[in-house]
Amino acid sequence: MRYVSTRGKAPPQSFEDVLLAGLANDGGLFLPEAWPRIDAEDIASFADAPYADVAFRILSRFAGNSFSAAELKADIDAAYAAFDAPAIAPLVEIGPRLFLLELFHGPTLAFKDIAMQVLGRLFARALNKRGARVTVVAATSGDTGSAAIAALGGLPNIEVFVIHPKGRVSEVQRRQMTTDAHANVHNIALEGSFDDAQAIVKDLFADTDFACRVQLTAVNSINFVRIAAQCVYYFTAAAQLRTTPVFVVPTGNFGDVFAGEAAMRMGLAVEKLVVATNANDILARALNEGVYAAGTAQATLSPSMDIQVASNFERALFEASGRDAVWTEQAMGEFGRTRSLQIPAAVLRNLRSRYEAQSCDDAETLAMMAETHTRTARLVDPHTAVGLVAAAKIAPKARGPVVVLSTAHPAKFPESVARATGVSPPLPPRLKGLYEGEERVSLLPHDGARVRAFIEARLAHP
Ligand SMILES: *Cc1c(COP(=O)(O)O)cnc(C)c1O
Repeated sequence: MRYVSTRGKAPPQSFEDVLLAGLANDGGLFLPEAWPRIDAEDIASFADAPYADVAFRILSRFAGNSFSAAELKADIDAAYAAFDAPAIAPLVEIGPRLFLLELFHGPTLAFKDIAMQVLGRLFARALNKRGARVTVVAATSGDTGSAAIAALGGLPNIEVFVIHPKGRVSEVQRRQMTTDAHANVHNIALEGSFDDAQAIVKDLFADTDFACRVQLTAVNSINFVRIAAQCVYYFTAAAQLRTTPVFVVPTGNFGDVFAGEAAMRMGLAVEKLVVATNANDILARALNEGVYAAGTAQATLSPSMDIQVASNFERALFEASGRDAVWTEQAMGEFGRTRSLQIPAAVLRNLRSRYEAQSCDDAETLAMMAETHTRTARLVDPHTAVGLVAAAKIAPKARGPVVVLSTAHPAKFPESVARATGVSPPLPPRLKGLYEGEERVSLLPHDGARVRAFIEARLAHP
């Protein structure tokens, strides 16, 4: 199995190279040269199989011969042994033909752990084999940072720099990152938005001299291994339902919902992928109106989705254009220059055959958290609530059951949950000690050169 870039100018790479590189060196994103196929019989067998076994069967199709079966199996089993739900991604019925797919049972209580726990172990294995070192720089809207730190903190041969937008993550999210005591973990609070942080990371990658010197790599969802690990729960959920579902996906960087497209391309029957966004609705506007145009990110109650420029949308555009790398490169170049892209009619039609989009504001999010609590006695986090609002909007026309991806534990956003429901979610055992630990974080201005200098100084004197 080899991987190609969406911009067509990077040489094909192995799974291990893609894991360690993150971004392709032509600025594009990696995708498999051809999608592996999983047949209907195999999918049906996933209904009763342990989650880690399904993950192994799917990831081994992506891994080619980068890792032996025994290595891959050992890392996947170890990754999921640390989860606090035996099903890993339990599917819970909360209403007539309405389900939550709970993805928050890992160490940092958001869905990012599901892929990151595997990715961290594969990273350690690959670096050890190669005798190499890497520098991970991750921009985070709140949850990627803590998941990366939980997966990579304390590993040899890796320095981890996590950049979060100052004041735009919840206190729990911030403390999960800044109270980690591992010497290889470095937190940066950046003046600006998540998009500003992500743009700085992209510029660091584009600085090839710097990127090579420090062996820069990415563990954001631009890293294809994240997508490969995330498509697994689409398979397990659909197999358990034994029918063709609609998936509703609270979306920011388009990584999680693109994992749904990956599952479809591998043979999973899905009625529709519903992109659920908050007031940062660039993706909803792109799919509904055909113009992908970035505005200014606004702070909402679902901060992990306060994103305007969704990196993974490039993968969806590439696929929807019939894998036209020349067009994709030109389109992304135009979007980079003008912050706006008119999506050609044929590409839009293709996207709409799989996706539809719904957005909602904070008032709707709060009302849905309250309503869900009244109706089911469940507390849901604000991101899950954005998904539930979208589910309510599309429910009348859905033929199959509707599965909302529940992306975070309510205890990560206690203020919003209490504001909506009057109930403070109890602090889970995983978060004990969060308010006692000392915070380590450096405040930096919105200035790529300063961020680069900070990283270089820390690498010189760890
Ligand atoms: C990251 C995140 C999202 C958005 O996922 P993308 O892959 O960026 O679309 C949604 N909800 C929560 C809680 C998250 O942490």
